[in-house]
Amino acid sequence: MQCQSVDLRMDVMEKLIDGHLYQNTLAALNEAAALVKLDPNILERLKKPKKAIMVSVPTRMDDGTVKVFDGYRVQHSSTLGPCKGGIRYHESVNLSEVSALAMLMTFKCALAGLPLGGAKGGVRVNASKLSRSEKQRLTRRYTSEISSFIGPEKDIPAPDIGTDAQTMAWIMDTYSQEQGHAVPGVVTGKPIEIGGSLGRSTSTGRGVIYTVEEACNYLKIKQDFNVKVAVQGFGEVGAAAATCAHELGLCVTAISDVNGGLINEKGLNVTAIKDYYSKNKTLKGYKEADAITNDEILVSKCDILVPAAVDGVINENNAKKIRAKLIAEGANGPVTLQAHHELVGNGVFVIPDILANAGGVIVSYFEWVQDLQNFFWSEKEINSRLREIMTSTFRTVLDHSLAEKADMRKAALGTAVKRVSAAMLLRGLYPQ
Ligand code: GLU
Repeated sequence: MQCQSVDLRMDVMEKLIDGHLYQNTLAALNEAAALVKLDPNILERLKKPKKAIMVSVPTRMDDGTVKVFDGYRVQHSSTLGPCKGGIRYHESVNLSEVSALAMLMTFKCALAGLPLGGAKGGVRVNASKLSRSEKQRLTRRYTSEISSFIGPEKDIPAPDIGTDAQTMAWIMDTYSQEQGHAVPGVVTGKPIEIGGSLGRSTSTGRGVIYTVEEACNYLKIKQDFNVKVAVQGFGEVGAAAATCAHELGLCVTAISDVNGGLINEKGLNVTAIKDYYSKNKTLKGYKEADAITNDEILVSKCDILVPAAVDGVINENNAKKIRAKLIAEGANGPVTLQAHHELVGNGVFVIPDILANAGGVIVSYFEWVQDLQNFFWSEKEINSRLREIMTSTFRTVLDHSLAEKADMRKAALGTAVKRVSAAMLLRGLYPQ
């Protein structure tokens, strides 16, 4: 028998959250905790999410049948403020994956100095197989099931893989209908017309390239057309990262979406490819480049690699073959910890996800602040505040990494856990 919604007891949760991304994230957390000599009581508390909800999402399909999907929302920590994190529609979604991603959000927000905790949600579904109306019905039912869990002061969703500004508009509307008034601050990444922020849709990719600029300065890589960049993923993150790299004057040699990609060692015209993609909804058939698979792109000849698709793509099977000197993690968890150690050992500079892709949640934070104040900023202001935070965060992590002789992932996570820990110690444990 299927029940409608379950609040999970901790012993049950422990079994359910055990999965590869979770184990990987936990191992990275343990390394960082050792680096910063984290209080073991705090480490215990950080290892598991604070709360999780599992919901069943019955959805009427266009042919009249009803399909029941599994939905989740996990709140990892609310120590620094309301929980924050995206909602993913993907066939890989399960409690373990969502819990790992929620934990990463806690550290991403803390690292960027945002007054927010970490959360993540998702529905196990292949969103590309849903019609627009099926996606709308699924989103509204999922929202209604988790509506007591979320809210502008509690937990604020945003887009992630398989969801977009339109999905956020449906969530905002469903939640607002239930409240009886418009509540724009319940989600970020909304369309501008209903309280979204300028610059939000390109912010993650833009932020990735801001950190690449900083890393190039540190590594003394001259930023010009001799520098080859490969980007895996042509969703919101990958497309914006490729565009910003191109605008910066770097040579984008390869890009790909879920179905494969394009390569041209002399450089791709990213603007023309974006136009082609929006007309044809595929990269296939674009003339000025050769076809390349998603595995090949990772090991293609390039100086900078931006994995901006899904987790675990760089692992023990291909780590040795990576030719890039610099990797910026546009996706969450694209490099496994084992592969990360191997890459760092080979002198590759890896900008970890919680630093490289923080631009999305930083502008989400700006959007939430604007919604709460009903006062909206210019795109110029948003981009310059974004650059300021990305740059100073990068420098903090780099300084920590150099001072402790630790790699950037350990230094980033270490900086983040220290901040969460300081707040947890100040707030104390309730009850004593
Ligand atoms: N889904 C994005 C991430 O993983 C954005 C989260 C947000 O804006 O809340 O960082």
